[in-house]
Amino acid sequence: MTAITDGLGRGIDYLRISITDRCNLRCLYCMPAEGVKAKRHDEILSFEEIERLVGIVAQMGIKHIRLTGGEPLVRPGVVDLVRMIAHTPGVESVALTTNGLLLPKLGPALAEAGLSRVNISLDTLNPEQYQVITRIGSVQDALDGVEAALACGFDPVKINTVVVRQLNQDLYRLARLSIGKPLHVRFIEYMPVGVSAGPDGLGWSAEDTVPSEEVLAQINAQAQAAGEPQLTPVRDKDPHSPTGWGPARYYRFEGALGTVGFISALSNHFCSTCNRIRLTADGKVRPCLFSDQEFDIRTALATGTDQEVRAVIAETLAAKPESHHDRVGTERRMSQIGG
Ligand code: SAM
Ligand code: SF4
Ligand code: SF4
Repeated sequence: MTAITDGLGRGIDYLRISITDRCNLRCLYCMPAEGVKAKRHDEILSFEEIERLVGIVAQMGIKHIRLTGGEPLVRPGVVDLVRMIAHTPGVESVALTTNGLLLPKLGPALAEAGLSRVNISLDTLNPEQYQVITRIGSVQDALDGVEAALACGFDPVKINTVVVRQLNQDLYRLARLSIGKPLHVRFIEYMPVGVSAGPDGLGWSAEDTVPSEEVLAQINAQAQAAGEPQLTPVRDKDPHSPTGWGPARYYRFEGALGTVGFISALSNHFCSTCNRIRLTADGKVRPCLFSDQEFDIRTALATGTDQEVRAVIAETLAAKPESHHDRVGTERRMSQIGG
């Protein structure tokens, strides 16, 4: 199998697929309060089209697939989709990014179908604040999802926390989730995606992005004040290091079962090692998270030959920018792109 590279020679082996832009939460920074207008069935890719695309890109060299959304677990049939992708020749791993609410119900079937890695989004442990951020969610449901993920044996189980300055989150408490359980808590810099969310939501603003260094310093200051161990960098060969293909830098509290990671998309960007492309639910491939440039692959999947599908992927790869400094942010929100 040939490996694919983009126009700048970076190896691309990772495809993130948004399988729906609907969601059972309404996070302030991601969705309008009223949710998104439901797309018609024929406006989003069918599972057959996704299956065909995965088969083609796996032959081209894509090895890792992540399902995201919107909330991927609200799309009926997701377990069958996971099974189909996991059995596609060339695909080495299938991962999921989810808010976790449906994991108690679907986790065991997903594990049996071949899902291996799960990221669960959790921005606070405080019940009132969770409800403010998600507008309609209960933090206990998310925590039940985390427990279900561990019980199903997914490995690794990561917690994704987007840090937004004005939300004033309980970051030290979240980091401490990594101590007693094999959880990998990652703090993600708030990114200029969905920059003009409008009056009903939280549009992105630079002041709200908290640099990872500041989050690390804040956590360590709180640990010191509490007389507890501080975070130290995880060495490459550390058995606690969560394997993966992502851009996080990992730390650990002494004796902890899990780790604490930082994804510094803005302050310390990692575009030189970018390994990914994205597919939206409505069938557009996007070369870069920070750009609204996209290529229509739905038409090729509906009516074209495999060669035509490959040509759209090639066009997408050629358009990958060198760094996000080449781009200024997106109009589509994360729920539409697939974070
Ligand atoms: N619903 C699933 C979930 O919440 O995990 C999957 C989709 S959600 C869009 C994926 C991730 O994107 C979530 O962790 C969310 O917090 C994150 N996200 C959304 N908007 C963001 C932004 N502007 N900057 C950074 N992360 C963002
Ligand atoms: Fe839904 Fe995930 Fe967006 Fe929250 S971050 S509104 S859970 S898609
Ligand atoms: Fe890749 Fe764009 Fe993200 Fe940089 S900003 S790592 S080029 S997707």
